[in-house]
Amino acid sequence: MRGESWNRVVVDEHILTENYRFLQGIAGSVPVLAMVKADAYGHGMIHAAKAFAKGGCRHFGVAELCEGVELRKGGVEGEIFVTIGFAASDASFFFDYSLIPVICTAAHAEALEQEAAKRGQPIAVHLKVNTGMGRLGLWPEEVEAFAEGLKKYPHLQIAGVMSHFPEADIPGSASTTAALEKFQPLRKWIKEKYNAIAHIANSGALFNHPEAYCDMIRVGIALYGSHPGGEKGLKETGSQGKLLPAMRFTSRILQVKKFPQGMTISYGCTFTTPKEMTIAVIPVGYEDGLERSRSNGGVVLVGGKRVPICGRICMNMCMLDVSAVSGVAVGDEVVLLGRQADEIITADEIAAETGTISHEVFCRFGRMNNHFIE
Ligand SMILES: *Cc1c(COP(=O)(O)O)cnc(C)c1O
Repeated sequence: MRGESWNRVVVDEHILTENYRFLQGIAGSVPVLAMVKADAYGHGMIHAAKAFAKGGCRHFGVAELCEGVELRKGGVEGEIFVTIGFAASDASFFFDYSLIPVICTAAHAEALEQEAAKRGQPIAVHLKVNTGMGRLGLWPEEVEAFAEGLKKYPHLQIAGVMSHFPEADIPGSASTTAALEKFQPLRKWIKEKYNAIAHIANSGALFNHPEAYCDMIRVGIALYGSHPGGEKGLKETGSQGKLLPAMRFTSRILQVKKFPQGMTISYGCTFTTPKEMTIAVIPVGYEDGLERSRSNGGVVLVGGKRVPICGRICMNMCMLDVSAVSGVAVGDEVVLLGRQADEIITADEIAAETGTISHEVFCRFGRMNNHFIE
């Protein structure tokens, strides 16, 4: 044990690289930007970005400025887009670390121009437009006037326009068609007027909306091996066996004991053994990302078999009914996410059980545990 936790998130870099290659293959000649925000959806930002780079990736996206700085400091080359803005007083970081700001306010433009003028160094910016996401961005009708207004900032170069779909994971969604109708004229305008690029597609659009590829596709969740359409999407798009989950979350067994019939398990005494049972304890609880709502409901893998969680999940432990698995011993591997022998627990399965999406499952396990890169 050497003093380290028995809980580990193991990320297979080779799978990340292969996922990138597979998705770039679908995109054809349109470059795929890897979204590596939120520590690459919990996979470890720098390692993940380097794995994608190995697959040919030259464009990366993060949310916050500090993430872009960390990525560059970690030795990642290529274009890095900061998509959600920044404090005006931090404008210098874009120059120091060669990052591309995505802007939608005059205050950001002003802050960048001041810094650029001071350094005598121009900077490329992309404009953010809200075409239906209802989040950050200029209204489509505002974009041309905003761009006009940037003329007074001689160091700012308009290099692109971007937007984001709220429902591209749903094939044929009306909001996707509507957003694209607003975006296509902007794409034409920015190409003609500034010779700049346009990008709006995410993982969902990569699979469902080739008409939305434009000049670049910003892919997140699919790179991590989760299809935006779940199991059904994997099958229907021929991605099965090609798009693979890269993250496993494993632990080890602390104790195995026979419990006689009629014993209660864990806080609240919510589970009573209906017969003699073999109960294993593992050092995983809600502080490790195992949601307490999965008490008496969640399943994990032991000895290549699916076994249920019994009783309430504690902060640092939970109990498993391993009666159906023979020879379970202290120190045996337990898999909470990923494959063990012929069985697998996917992020989509956990997401369906807990009423969320695979993005959140990866972020939770990845952010709350130590990483190991394979
Ligand atoms: C997170 C994000 C993406 C990637 O979305 P996925 O659904 O994970 O592919 C693309 N664009 C922006 C602006 C994002 O914030």
